[in-house]
Amino acid sequence: MLSQKTRYAIRAMQHLADRYGEGPVQLGEIATAQKIPAKFLTTILSELGRAGVVESQRGRDGGYWLASPPQELTYGNLVRLMRGSLALVPCASRNAHERCSNCVAENECRLRALMLKVRDQTADLLDSIHLSDPIQPPSQVGDSTI
Ligand code: SF4
Repeated sequence: MLSQKTRYAIRAMQHLADRYGEGPVQLGEIATAQKIPAKFLTTILSELGRAGVVESQRGRDGGYWLASPPQELTYGNLVRLMRGSLALVPCASRNAHERCSNCVAENECRLRALMLKVRDQTADLLDSIHLSDPIQPPSQVGDSTI
C-alpha cells in the first residue's frame, strides 16, 4: 500500500498540476484543499524540491509550482521519488522488502510470484499516466467493491 507520505505527495502534486502556469501556490492553500498537515506538507514539498520536480519562492507572494509541465511527469515517477511501495505483500516490494516470520522459501512461493506480477503491472500502469491526464473520482464513475 502507498505510504501516507506518498499519498500526500501525490495529492499535493495534483493540486500544483491543476494550478500549473498560474504562479506560486501558497502552502496553506494546498494544505487546506488537500487536508494535509502543514508541517508534513512542508517536509514533502522540500523533498520534491530537492528532487527537482517542484520549485519555490519565499516571501509574501511566494509559494510552490511544478518545475516542469504536468504532462512530463508520471505517477510512476512520483511514487519512485517518494520511495513508495506498490506491492500488496511486503516480500514483493522493491523499497520495503520484508518477509513474514513463517515464510516458505521466497523462490517457491506462488503467492509472491503472483504479487510480483501485480506490482509490475501496477508500475507499468502508473508509468503510463501523467499528472496532466484527467482522472475521474469514483463518485463520477461508480464505486468499486474491491
Ligand atoms: S510466504 Fe510467500 S508471501 Fe509470505 S513472505 Fe514468504 S514469500 Fe512472501
